[in-house]
Amino acid sequence: RSEESQIVLEAHQWLAKLYHHLLRNSKEGKEAFQYLLDRGFSEETIKKYQIGFSPNSKDFVVTFLEKKGFHPQTMVKAGLLSTNDQGDYADRFRGRVIFPLRNHLGKTVAFAGRALGKQEPKYLNSPETELFQKGKLLYNFDLARSAIRKQKRVILFEGYVDVISADQAGVHNAVGTMGTSISSTQANLLKRYVDQVIICYDGDKPGVEAAAKAGQLMKETGCQTFVARIPDGLDPDDFIQKHGGDRFQKEVIDTSETYMTFLMSFLKRDYNLQIEGDRIAYIEKVLQEVAKLDRAVEREHYLNEIAKEFEMSLDTLKEEVQSIQRVSP
Ligand code: ATP
Ligand code: MN
Ligand code: MN
Ligand code: MN
Repeated sequence: RSEESQIVLEAHQWLAKLYHHLLRNSKEGKEAFQYLLDRGFSEETIKKYQIGFSPNSKDFVVTFLEKKGFHPQTMVKAGLLSTNDQGDYADRFRGRVIFPLRNHLGKTVAFAGRALGKQEPKYLNSPETELFQKGKLLYNFDLARSAIRKQKRVILFEGYVDVISADQAGVHNAVGTMGTSISSTQANLLKRYVDQVIICYDGDKPGVEAAAKAGQLMKETGCQTFVARIPDGLDPDDFIQKHGGDRFQKEVIDTSETYMTFLMSFLKRDYNLQIEGDRIAYIEKVLQEVAKLDRAVEREHYLNEIAKEFEMSLDTLKEEVQSIQRVSP
């Protein structure tokens, strides 16, 4: 690790402390603090996750970092300050609620700043740096690791607040994939700890599409993969705040469906099943997925489902799967 990234790492630890302090103790931080309480986060949770606030001032953080001996140009490269043509510096996250993003060792390596109101973008993240690569970091992995290892099971959320809400409600084995996708690096990392993965993304279109992608990657690692559905257009945090952790566990996690069942309904989007040709193309597509399954019991289970739904014989479907496997084993 370069000397510069050591310096950048230090700057992040200082700033995380400062932002958290300002949230809890400054006049400017009051509104943000209240915002978090109103969303249902306890003081204890706010402290545990070192959630912070960056005052809406251009130079407060700039001055702080300079006093600590950090060069503004280095801080720009680190994604902590922004600059303009005139060479003025400003805090990149000013006016936002701050979620420190910690690496697997618990060190803050980036920040996500959430707008307090309806400003765009809703979340402003640090850019990719030597310390922070989005595709490698799993949000909260440092704190969740022991629960994940113990349960041999991990829940994937898309948002930071989903992870934090779940933890507060007693669900500790969850990490965030930050936005919507998971990388194969992340998938392989998780595979070392778990047998089971439950993907619990938002129920909107981007969330469902990301669940399909993440499921594919997790399945390829050999994990038993499930997809949870959240009712009524809520996201995981909404559901937990509304109904509590017990109902989340019982009604969302425990009722999650297998990735293949999810996929069979997801793939229907691409076909009009009223049309004969589309029906056949859809069945063909699903059979190709079934053919990839390792276990005969699993294959037979899904083939039964398809046989029932499309009034076909199990033998025909089996024969087709075998011929797919012969072509691409
Ligand atoms: P909130 O409940 O505060 O609205 P959320 O987690 O429900 O947050 P989503 O819109 O569902 O927000 O986004 C999920 C995740 O996607 C966020 O936690 C963040 O990691 C990422 N994300 C969302 N919007 C942006 C953005 N504009 N830029 C970068 N990342 C984003
Ligand atoms: Mn979303
Ligand atoms: Mn969401
Ligand atoms: Mn949300």
